Amino acid sequence: MAKKILTEYINVPGIETFDAYRKQGGYTAAEKALKTMTPDEVVEEAKKSGVRGRGGAGFPMGMKWGFLAKPEGVPRYLVCNADESEPGTFKDHYLMKSIPHLLIEGMIIGSYALGAKKSFIYVRGELMYVIHILEKAIAEATAQGFLGKNILGTGYDLELVVQPGGGAYICGEETALLESLEGKRGNPRNKPPFPAVKGLYQSPTVVNNVESIANMPWIINNGSDAYAAIGIGRSTGTKLISASGHIQKPGVYEIELGVSVEEFLNSDEYCGGVRKGHHLKALVAGGSSVPILPANLIMKTANGEDRLMSYESLSDGGFATGTMLGSGGFIVFDETACIVRNTWNFARFYHHESCGQCSPCREGTGWMEKVLHRIEHGHGSMHDVDLLVDISKKIEGNTICPLGDAAAWPVASAIRHFRDEFIWHITNPYEASQPGAVYQGEMALV
Ligand code: SF4
Repeated sequence: MAKKILTEYINVPGIETFDAYRKQGGYTAAEKALKTMTPDEVVEEAKKSGVRGRGGAGFPMGMKWGFLAKPEGVPRYLVCNADESEPGTFKDHYLMKSIPHLLIEGMIIGSYALGAKKSFIYVRGELMYVIHILEKAIAEATAQGFLGKNILGTGYDLELVVQPGGGAYICGEETALLESLEGKRGNPRNKPPFPAVKGLYQSPTVVNNVESIANMPWIINNGSDAYAAIGIGRSTGTKLISASGHIQKPGVYEIELGVSVEEFLNSDEYCGGVRKGHHLKALVAGGSSVPILPANLIMKTANGEDRLMSYESLSDGGFATGTMLGSGGFIVFDETACIVRNTWNFARFYHHESCGQCSPCREGTGWMEKVLHRIEHGHGSMHDVDLLVDISKKIEGNTICPLGDAAAWPVASAIRHFRDEFIWHITNPYEASQPGAVYQGEMALV
């Protein structure tokens, strides 16, 4: 069995309560950090563990903590990004609703390390029941002396606030999240200045994903070296993967980074294989915004090596033949899935969620959606395929925030690997536009 860091106790009855969590050793890491370590020592442990941001970007968390400006007399903030909204990603939701004290303990440790006296958990607004679970857990932790004034007699004060999100995907972008937290429309900010210098209320701020922060109790209890020993290369530790689509066992799985894609997809410990009687066509490995891969590039890299569930292996070959681990939204497509329809669906989502601040994203996402709609519905022309590639190139890298790239990559990669399927839609408009019609030609090749 693979090592479990986040989910070891997740099925213990009542683990959402303080007492049950405490019985499993909960809050011993917070006690250890606050009573026996300096804030700098906690930051150093985060750095040495190599744990990387689990929200999608994969930036080393300890290094991010190390960037925090430390001007005297100015408050510092830790903000937990729990606005999980990426299509195909639902692991933070699972963690918060099942074992909320793990996140709260991680927030105490992180806030202490950063010198924050007030910290926030910004939760996707649609998840009101999760917000209530977290608020109840915070009240329990406060009553037990782990939050509030003079925590455990150490002289350290921390107030932890749960904030319902603004109800938009873009509020998960860290600067849009901070705007929303300040009570404004969730529009991303121009950078620099970065949040580490001017974040919430113009004060130094770190924004971390739920899963990233939830690793801290284990790291403090077991040591950064033990954490770094799990995983492979610079992909240390474990990762929660949200598995969905045409598989036998959809769900959230904790894997050791470095397990092969083949094992994750086919073993009974995880997805249990593609659904019976069907075969693999394509995979989105890291949530809807990462490039889609065709079957022939999923298990092996272009060099013929086993493809692993790690930041490096999934991106091997760059965007020509690779993809990204992203937020770990593992979406599997069998041969009954229509790539054009799926690409249109993703494009529709990003157009709807664009905040509209920058022209390439505001206009380009709409154009891509329209062009894909007409191809899918039997009105496309051969010119449209290259037009889509052209629009995606004009969006990529030319926007304030990563939503532009997130909208461009699924379209560009679908055409790169499944161009024949797009052309079939255009040259067989009547047949392709029938409900359930799927290209039955040769599977995608690079
Ligand atoms: Fe808004 Fe899109 Fe520009 Fe991001 S890229 S700031 S979502 S318009």
